[in-house]
Amino acid sequence: MKKNICFLFLLFIITFLYAVEPIKIGDKGKKEDIPSIWPISGKWKHISMQFGPYTDPDTQEIKIHKGIDLSTWRIGDPVYVTANGCVVTVDYNETYGNYIIVQHKENISTLYARLSEVKVKQGDIIKQGDIIGLTGNTGEGNGVCLHYEIHIGLDVVDPLPYLDATQ
Ligand SMILES: [Zn+2]
Repeated sequence: MKKNICFLFLLFIITFLYAVEPIKIGDKGKKEDIPSIWPISGKWKHISMQFGPYTDPDTQEIKIHKGIDLSTWRIGDPVYVTANGCVVTVDYNETYGNYIIVQHKENISTLYARLSEVKVKQGDIIKQGDIIGLTGNTGEGNGVCLHYEIHIGLDVVDPLPYLDATQ
């Protein structure tokens, strides 16, 4: 019975996560105000983990990956802010390691985690494409990656449709 309730709860969460439509560029404001570029670059850039539910290999628990993991395979590559905005948080915790939260227009914010170095401070006004930090492996997880989240209000959305949205 408890398992059923857990499953229903999970289903509710997943539906909630996927119910939020990506904001289309051109609908609102300039494309530089909407997260619309890859936060890392170079020919080795790739997605190492998708957004959404996954099974924790240690505990077999079903969890939600609230962002997307992007990697260049190595530490120290530049991380770019994906839209114009203002740095609202620069902090460290055990899950995210070194992380940055940037507030954009339309109640959108982006989060950049697992950084080896941070190049901005709270209150900085930054432009799409500015370097805000370097890739790393701080915090929880395997290997080097940038854990990247997009929030619209209190919801997290899949960042995948937003990658390369300018092309
Ligand atoms: Zn991640």
